[in-house]
Amino acid sequence: MEGILHFVAKLTYLSVYSKIFLLVYQPVNFGDDDDFMDNYEPIRESFLKEVAASSSLDALYAVKVKYIGKKGVISELNKALAKLPSEEKPIAGFEIGKLRNEFSAAYDDKESSLKERELSEKLISEQIDVTLPGLTLPIGREHIINKTAGEISAFFASIGYLKATGPEVELDYYNFEALNMPYGHPARDMQDTFYVSDYEVLRTHTSPVQIRTMLACKPPIRIIAPGKVYRSDYDVTHSPMFHQVEGLYIDENISMGELKGTLEHFVKALFGSDVPVRFRASYFPFTEPSMEVDMGCSICSGGGCRVCKGAGWLEIGGCGMVAPEVFDAVRLDYNKFSGFAFGMGVERIAMLKYGIDDIRLFFENHLKFLNQF
Ligand SMILES: [Zn+2]
Repeated sequence: MEGILHFVAKLTYLSVYSKIFLLVYQPVNFGDDDDFMDNYEPIRESFLKEVAASSSLDALYAVKVKYIGKKGVISELNKALAKLPSEEKPIAGFEIGKLRNEFSAAYDDKESSLKERELSEKLISEQIDVTLPGLTLPIGREHIINKTAGEISAFFASIGYLKATGPEVELDYYNFEALNMPYGHPARDMQDTFYVSDYEVLRTHTSPVQIRTMLACKPPIRIIAPGKVYRSDYDVTHSPMFHQVEGLYIDENISMGELKGTLEHFVKALFGSDVPVRFRASYFPFTEPSMEVDMGCSICSGGGCRVCKGAGWLEIGGCGMVAPEVFDAVRLDYNKFSGFAFGMGVERIAMLKYGIDDIRLFFENHLKFLNQF
């Protein structure tokens, strides 16, 4: 109401104050010479000025309430209308209605232009820069053990070896017995075995795959068998679960020279053509003769260091010519066929290749470690 009074006070300075003031706030009878219609021209001007000056929808709405609202100026005009002589009422009523329509139209125009402006301001302030880089989602990668096993398999695939697999819960017969380690054989002590039952074990090496393959296929046989193996052992170089790659080549007239040539070729392909390779006599129940394969220490180049324990050589696996007892177990004639087998630890190869000194890092799954490879 104070606003309206202020508005009205302002009108008094517009020279037509008296009639409007009386019309709205002290309704009286207009005399015959009073021109009712002339009196709201200042209201009209004032309304249009205030609408034009409204810089926001809120401000515009306040103007609407003041003029077109229930207790606004138009309502007051209508109240005053009732007090006019009856012959003036139709014309004055018509004019007030016209004024009201004009106000509404002016209000609607201004409202839509303000809305448009607010929208475009919002669009500018909330603009999305499509050239900004997006959020990068972490992408997984192959585990270093899988990667190394894959590199080993890929090499042997390139010289004609097929991939073979076997169960991880293995019959004692395939894991020991058929590999010339009958019950009570002292060589069984070399492998701390997890027994599942009296006749089942978690396989301690991938060698049972060669028994299964020789029983299922006829020579020539050339396989590579990568997979998990289990032993009850745990320290910086031993894990209760680790990975081996087993290789087997059976045909007529296979010699030890081919075994040595194959493994030498493999080491040089994986570690570099200038890495020296040597074979040491050893013992495994399922090969005869048996050898350990060493490569020159890549850390000290043969000079001797902590990693190779001063020897200048690093052991990478075992191998040998398949023993006659194994041929017997798979019912192959060892007078007709010969062959070789070799096995190596995938973790050991990865440790040598990437200079890792603790086998447990492979299985602790710290991303800081795994992301390096
Ligand atoms: Zn060394």
